[in-house]
Amino acid sequence: MQPLSRVPSLIHAKGEMADSIRSFDWSATSIGQITSWPANLLTALNLVLDSPSPMVLWWAGGKIQFYNDAFRANLGTGESGLKRDVLDLDASVCWGDNWLLIGPLIEGVFRTGEPAQLKDQLIAVFRNGVREEAHWTFSCSPVRNSEGMPEGILIVCTETSKSNQLIQENEQHLKRVLDHMAEGVGITDINGRIVYSNPMAHQILSTNSSLFPERSSNSPEWFNTHLDGRPMADSEHPTMIAMATGKPVFGFEFAIERPGTSKMYLIMNAAPITDANGNITGSVGMFSDITERKATEVALRVAKDAIEMQKLLYEAITSNTPDLMYMFDLDYKFIYVNKAVLDMWGKTWEQAIGKGLRENGYEDWHASMHEREIDQVVATKQRIRGEVAFPHATLGKRIYDYIFVPVFDEAGEVIAVSGTTRDITEIRKAEAAISESELRFRNMAEGSGILIAFGSESGEITYFNQAWSELTGKSTQELLAFGWADLVHSEDKEPYLNLYMDSLRKQVPYTGEYRILSKSGEYRWLLTFASPRFEPDGSFTGFIGSSLDITERKQNEQRKNDFISMVSHELKTPLTSTISYVQVSHKKALADGDMLTAGMLERASKQLGKMTTLINGFLNVSRLEAGKIYIDKRPFDMAVLMKEVEKGIVPEASSHRILFAPVEETWTSVDKDKIEQVINNFISNAIKYSPAGSTIHISCVSQDGYARVDVKDQGIGIKPEDQEKLFDRFYRVEGLHNKSISGFGIGLYICKEIIERHGGQIGVSSTPGVGSDFWFTLPLET
Ligand code: ADP
Repeated sequence: MQPLSRVPSLIHAKGEMADSIRSFDWSATSIGQITSWPANLLTALNLVLDSPSPMVLWWAGGKIQFYNDAFRANLGTGESGLKRDVLDLDASVCWGDNWLLIGPLIEGVFRTGEPAQLKDQLIAVFRNGVREEAHWTFSCSPVRNSEGMPEGILIVCTETSKSNQLIQENEQHLKRVLDHMAEGVGITDINGRIVYSNPMAHQILSTNSSLFPERSSNSPEWFNTHLDGRPMADSEHPTMIAMATGKPVFGFEFAIERPGTSKMYLIMNAAPITDANGNITGSVGMFSDITERKATEVALRVAKDAIEMQKLLYEAITSNTPDLMYMFDLDYKFIYVNKAVLDMWGKTWEQAIGKGLRENGYEDWHASMHEREIDQVVATKQRIRGEVAFPHATLGKRIYDYIFVPVFDEAGEVIAVSGTTRDITEIRKAEAAISESELRFRNMAEGSGILIAFGSESGEITYFNQAWSELTGKSTQELLAFGWADLVHSEDKEPYLNLYMDSLRKQVPYTGEYRILSKSGEYRWLLTFASPRFEPDGSFTGFIGSSLDITERKQNEQRKNDFISMVSHELKTPLTSTISYVQVSHKKALADGDMLTAGMLERASKQLGKMTTLINGFLNVSRLEAGKIYIDKRPFDMAVLMKEVEKGIVPEASSHRILFAPVEETWTSVDKDKIEQVINNFISNAIKYSPAGSTIHISCVSQDGYARVDVKDQGIGIKPEDQEKLFDRFYRVEGLHNKSISGFGIGLYICKEIIERHGGQIGVSSTPGVGSDFWFTLPLET
């Protein structure tokens, strides 16, 4: 054994192991004396012995192992740890159980010459006399010879137990935090598979925790959908988006529509998880249940939509009405005005809202008045109504009708006053115009002395003017109570009322005559013209009747009739004797052969005949007027009657072709002579008013329960305006033709009377220049 001092100073380090190596007798080992050790061994060994970190150096294929003090303190194995004398102990013996782990590694490095590492190995170590388990990382590097072949292995041992523990502690801490979080948390691996889920996640998703590890974040079992119900693709799930983009996703809202449960809304923040190298290894998703919030949101939106809708509706109404609509707060400030108000003021919304009455141009008296009214509405909680006139921006002075209404809050307190104002200028004007015209009319009606009355659409008389009271001596009230009808002469009452009611039904004008008892007790003749009244919309409102007292006229007429009748009678007697004198003289002149005198007497006889006809006509009229024409009706066949007329056609008619159409047996009840008189009148008119040589057609047919007789000529015809009046007494058409034709215009008048007294009708249709068709009808005998 060599003394220490003699050992060349090849091992420089201090420390127990350095001393042991220096003093160890290496001669018997495979590497021999220290002095013969190769440089690479010495360099590596010095490095090991100088290092404060646990290190081991294997040499000679693991037969020799050097280790430093740090290694011996930490990794000594066996009951008492490594002794200084284990320097030449075989590694497999020295490392005991751990050799199973270390051995192959060492061998691999020797074999391949590649460095190798064994990370975080949990191994049992004896430290400070205690056996404990610790994590170690072993980095094995070859120590090469000059040929580059590994001759030894340097193992640097780093204990990782501490940092692992820290991580574990951190993890545990984190888990505790996550477990108690109010949000659901899920952690996935890179494929989206759930590797961790917290209790809140289980609760929110009401899913058994054991099911989570079997699922991914977007497993179909979750029934994830977008908010609108579209199913969610895997790539659309926020955790997958976070992993795909490497960026966190915030506030991602989606829904869960699990069959049999109500729709659930979730909001999720997701972030990618990266390792130390920044590689994405998974994701974390944190979510909460926002179903209630969503429901509120939806409810809010619906409510908002409804409000919007209502607002639109109100807007539509308030901005399109010509009425003014507005609202005051309790400080008399306008908080709402519609378009009509703005138009009236000529202001914009911004200019008007929040302003008081005066600021919006109201005169002081007007503003004060409304302010008082607002106060009144607030105090009484009652609406008020008023009328006021003030100027409009463009229309000038207008009259307005307004209503102020209290607006209540839920507690029933008045919080505002709303108002509507209507422009009633036109209505007022119209009312004024009506009352003015009514006044004018009344003045006129009262002052004229004409009898004026109004009848309603149902026939009831609703108005009599003063003249009526004066005539009848009855008050308006008495007359209105149908006292009027009682005053009508019993003979006239029925025909007149029938005429009235008939015209009412037909809503046509009428003219009628009747006698009414006057206040003096005598009957007065009235001639009434009544016209139907119609509203502007065309509806019938009754009659307006004006009546004239025609008693004087009637009396005059009567006197005239009496006079005519008297004159006619007085004329008839001398005329009859004159005719007989003339006839006798005519015969005598003929017998004497005095042809000249005979001719003159014949002409005189013809003229006397005409005069007789005229006088008879007058007598007829006066008899008619006096009601003295007696109609003696008997059943008669019109065929026979027509035949007799045909036979009686006078020879003078040979100037015209008179054609009688064949007549079938047609029974009527008639006064034969009178009807013959009518037909003859028609025929002689036809002859009178149509050119010689023209044809006259006469026919009689039965139709609709009546026998109808027509006499058609090809004469001068009659203008429409004359046609109606032909049947009036003394009416003759004015015209050149008539000047030369004699007549008094009483023939058709008598015809009409006769036919009407038979219950038939009479009329004419005519075209001037073409011809006329005079006709009458008679009821058939049933
Ligand atoms: P007159 O004695 O004047 O003929 P009527 O009462 O018989 O009296 O007739 C009244 C008027 O009616 C006549 O004046 C004539 O203008 C008109 N008239 C009557 N018949 C005809 C007819 N067939 N054609 C044209 N006008 C006629």
